[in-house]
Amino acid sequence: MALRSIETLGDVRGKKVLVRSDFNVPLQDGTITDDGRIRAALPTLTSLVEAGAKVVILAHLGRPKGHVKPEFSLAPVAKRLGELIDTKVTLAKDTVGEDARRVVASLEEGHIALLENVRFDKRETSKDEAEREQLANEYAALADCFVSDGFGVVHRKQASVYDVAKILPSAAGKLVVKEIESLRRVTDNPERPYGVVLGGSKVSDKLGVIANLLEKADFLLIGGGMAYTFLAAQGHSVGSSLLENDQVNTVKEYMKTAGEKGVELLLPIDTVVAPEFKADAPATVVDSDKIPDDHMGLDIGPKTAKLFSNKIAAAKTVAWNGPMGVFEMEAFAKGTAAVAKALSESSCFSVIGGGDSAAAVRQLGYDESSFGHISTGGGASLELLEGIVLPGIDVLED
Ligand code: ADP
Ligand code: MG
Repeated sequence: MALRSIETLGDVRGKKVLVRSDFNVPLQDGTITDDGRIRAALPTLTSLVEAGAKVVILAHLGRPKGHVKPEFSLAPVAKRLGELIDTKVTLAKDTVGEDARRVVASLEEGHIALLENVRFDKRETSKDEAEREQLANEYAALADCFVSDGFGVVHRKQASVYDVAKILPSAAGKLVVKEIESLRRVTDNPERPYGVVLGGSKVSDKLGVIANLLEKADFLLIGGGMAYTFLAAQGHSVGSSLLENDQVNTVKEYMKTAGEKGVELLLPIDTVVAPEFKADAPATVVDSDKIPDDHMGLDIGPKTAKLFSNKIAAAKTVAWNGPMGVFEMEAFAKGTAAVAKALSESSCFSVIGGGDSAAAVRQLGYDESSFGHISTGGGASLELLEGIVLPGIDVLED
């Protein structure tokens, strides 16, 4: 199986090329607070612009749930894209309506039309295939071919991701190719030792990943809020830490399987605790089997940070998903910072997935080049680690 690249579409000069991008950026009072996703879309857009294509972009922003809501307009994105790319960007007032058709019809070679939020149309995310196909046909009528480059949505069976790719000649954009190549490097035949660092708030979000990795990884390092369910499964009390009681038995099974398969599963040996979930709550370090009843674990402790860092230093391949603590608060960000530092210093090939993990790494000031790859798609990268075939990728393969 091989992904069809943009080159397979042939000469695109003067052709209308429909591109699905992931422009779902965080906004605060109408201002983009992190334009990482727009920047990640530039290689594909620039190459199409330089090749003389008439570029028509489909993208979503937030969850307008099938209604036209001005607060979810792509206007701030159109403005930012115009600043980042050296060509004219025009925002259409609708997605497949009169204005979209007008803007697309008057596009010049090397110029870009951004259509309004695809999720203003409820058919975009419909579970009814016929509804989605109807919208996909309307998208297809606007262009000659389709490039799928919104990695953050390729796990979704949606009109602008999946259905339109079946109608027009289609290919994967440069971002999608890079994401898939990087993630395959950590999932198919990884160089060993191969380790996975998992954190974040919920075990239940990542159970499938753990199950799949027990078949593949040499070691698993578990931190973040999900670690307490594992500590509880070992019989420790975890105070008021995050705990998913209904997952304790599943987690026990995983620990047993890890033992049988020789996968090293490491949990925090020490923990930063505080009496409440607050940035200025007094933080102390305790051994993980001595979390006081009236305290909660909010980060891995310094001994654990050292232990995890040493494992990462000795690995050849590492995938990381989920922060080690409540990194948004300075007092509980050290564990996450230690893992980021170890990854940046290790000679291993590393992939960082997960929206919050990627945000943590950027917040710490690391450059993209300090790591093998920082994924732009949380859900999509998790599903790939889980071993799931993604519909939006499957349609782009021969
Ligand atoms: P990602 O987006 O990287 O996949 P998740 O969404 O699973 O990560 O989890 C990120 C969240 O987990 C962060 O907001 C972080 O504050 C939270 N978190 C990490 N450790 C803890 C903890 N010990 N207690 C509560 N929340 C935690
Ligand atoms: Mg998240």
